[in-house]
Amino acid sequence: MGSTTLSFLGAAGTVTGSQHLLTIDTEAPGSADPLRRRRILVDAGMFQGEKRLRLMNWSDFPVPPAAIGDVLLTHAHLDHCGLLPRLAAAGFRGRIWATPGTCELTRIVLLDAAHLQERDAAHAADRGYSRHRVPRPLYTVADVEATLPLLREIGFDAPLDLGGGVTAQWTPAGHILGSASIRVATPHGSVVFSGDLGRPEHPVLRPRRVPEGADIAVVESTYGDREHPDSAELARSGAAPPEAHEPLADAIRRTVDRGGSVLVPAFAVDRTEVVLKVLSDMTEDGRIPQVPVYVDSPMALASLRVYRAREHAGELRAEADGLRLPALDLREVRDVQDSQRLNAPDRPCLIISASGMATGGRVLHHLEHMLPDPRHCVVLTGYQAAGTRGRALAEGARALKMYGVYVAVRAEVLQDSEFSVHADASELVEWVRGLSPAPRGVFCVHGEPGPAGALADRLGEELGVVAVVPAQGETVRVGGPGSR
Ligand SMILES: [Zn+2]
Repeated sequence: MGSTTLSFLGAAGTVTGSQHLLTIDTEAPGSADPLRRRRILVDAGMFQGEKRLRLMNWSDFPVPPAAIGDVLLTHAHLDHCGLLPRLAAAGFRGRIWATPGTCELTRIVLLDAAHLQERDAAHAADRGYSRHRVPRPLYTVADVEATLPLLREIGFDAPLDLGGGVTAQWTPAGHILGSASIRVATPHGSVVFSGDLGRPEHPVLRPRRVPEGADIAVVESTYGDREHPDSAELARSGAAPPEAHEPLADAIRRTVDRGGSVLVPAFAVDRTEVVLKVLSDMTEDGRIPQVPVYVDSPMALASLRVYRAREHAGELRAEADGLRLPALDLREVRDVQDSQRLNAPDRPCLIISASGMATGGRVLHHLEHMLPDPRHCVVLTGYQAAGTRGRALAEGARALKMYGVYVAVRAEVLQDSEFSVHADASELVEWVRGLSPAPRGVFCVHGEPGPAGALADRLGEELGVVAVVPAQGETVRVGGPGSR
């Protein structure tokens, strides 16, 4: 017999820090050690955004990392894989399973995160505004290099036998390259983790698929209380669909006309690819003038290479044309000096730079120089978590704090919500509805309390399932004595 439990160690009532722990106890009668305990962690994400959350990255992991056998990764976003180097530095020596695309992107994302943390710690030490007497990074490049050899590739669909009656299976989630939902079957019951779910129509990636159902479903709820503007309603209204991203095209034309440049803080992985595809289509259709498009982020450029390389594996849509983008005057910016020269562009251009919520990266020095000039325009391309500079800009902040100094916001700010790569509320409900067999319990994670609660209510009303928002640190039973 024995039992399996599921503990919510992160992304409970918040959108970051995804980490869900399965504890599987099996009895081995007659052996010297009658109870065998296995721990499997699904995602090991970093907490981001508000300070109270970021501080959680520094606390001791709730179980000894050395006692975790396997980590299963849904995708390569930092809020799902960013804590791995901390775990490894604290003794984790197991295997980290992920799809080939996720493995490649995880290498890029973790190395970049370590570089940024080392640099920010050095900056803070120079300028003396850190709360630590000697500012230190959460982890270093050396920590990442010790972590990467633990990665193991696993393809989509084929079940992975983890031993002891435990299997795991990855199904495409259409969120970023390599992203997956993961279904874990244990001797006592099964759990399906949605991971982050993309929209049914990702512009570059093949569409997501619904995995096999399970006893318990853990579903993301980023947009659990919102519908994307272009959903079914437009179709029902019979009105001609508006041109895709028209507010963005309009802002680009306006900005170029007044001699300004457009800065696009973009998440380096996936958002950059999608933004480039949209700009390429617009240029081809003559909707925007052809101006130089700078991709100013080594991580974004590395990610673009991974996307292009995965075309052969059939992970891109045919319409994406392997992301060759012939219509664009694309320029790759690698050196920091070249990046800094872009702070004062001598003619209108588009600059795509990370990070997407302006929490760090080269986009900060562009913002520092471009925000005070009303000719320029800043285009936000997705979800902006509470407490980030991106959220402050989206909410109309008149000044923004960077490197300990306030900078005036006079540039135009546009939020283009069409870039979302998260499913909306109806799409999340449809995902759960598609699970077969239907889950007997649903946990809504990866959402702020409002959206997570709204999704749980809707799932209860529309599907008649028990759906709740788990508390941080809460443990529930997956199966075993007393369960169905
Ligand atoms: Zn994600």
